[in-house]
Amino acid sequence: MTTEQTKTPSWQWPEEAWRRIVERVRAGRSLRPREWPGGARCAVALSFDSDHDTSELRDGGESIGRLSQGQYGNRQGVPRILAVLRAHDVKASFFVPAVTALLYPDEQRRVVAEGHEIAIHGWIHERNSELPPQAERELQMRSADVLERVTGMRPVGIRTPSWDFTPHTLAITREMGLLYDSSLMGDVDCYELVMNGENTGVVELPVEWIRDDAVYFNMNRFASLRPYTSPADVYDIFKRDFDAAYREGGLFQLTMHPHISGHRSRIWILEELIQHAKAQGQVWFATHAEVVRYVKSHAA
Ligand SMILES: [Zn+2]
Repeated sequence: MTTEQTKTPSWQWPEEAWRRIVERVRAGRSLRPREWPGGARCAVALSFDSDHDTSELRDGGESIGRLSQGQYGNRQGVPRILAVLRAHDVKASFFVPAVTALLYPDEQRRVVAEGHEIAIHGWIHERNSELPPQAERELQMRSADVLERVTGMRPVGIRTPSWDFTPHTLAITREMGLLYDSSLMGDVDCYELVMNGENTGVVELPVEWIRDDAVYFNMNRFASLRPYTSPADVYDIFKRDFDAAYREGGLFQLTMHPHISGHRSRIWILEELIQHAKAQGQVWFATHAEVVRYVKSHAA
């Protein structure tokens, strides 16, 4: 967009201007499969964003109190989550900023050793839209290298920190040869990402703030932000989303944070959700990478 156009109020833009903005990144063909593996009725893709200390560091913060909440994510959050996943034999995806991986390499190795996926979640949970394009590219590539060095596995997917997606993100993701992104909200089913009218081959496994624990539970002592939904109500929202996915034979994706949901009064949400899903009948629990690989080869 030219400076001239940014100065022009949107209601005066020519059609070409708003079309060009919208076409930068679009949902293309649906990758909803005709059936799920093993005759499953629906797929469940659970994810955990191990932001830990980067929630504080990314804005240049040095609060020892808030950093201790990040460390809680490592000491208590992730172990509690892994215990639930192990008890129910469920595999999931962990999106890990490179700085988290460097602070807690043993945690990442344990996550991978227990059969889960680790994928890219930025360097220090930076806000991509505040970065020069060259820095975004460099950080995304460096983050993949760090995760590979720490875990021994090359990540195949990315979730941009705070789902902050710039006009350059998709080109970088494509250049890196990643299989998928999981930061956008254009559907409930997987779809192919289209960039400026061109199919990219990159699969989107869509997220939604509705299916994110942080939205309901976040709190800031020095601002007016407080948790505004009870754990029981959060469970009810997630359960209804799953129930509809089950009825429709679609995909249920969920985002949780170890330092937010890995608490005694909240971890039951994850466990009851898994128990509820299993009680319905045949459900396929899979990592994001597994879901993406499957839908790519089984799109209806
Ligand atoms: Zn995050």
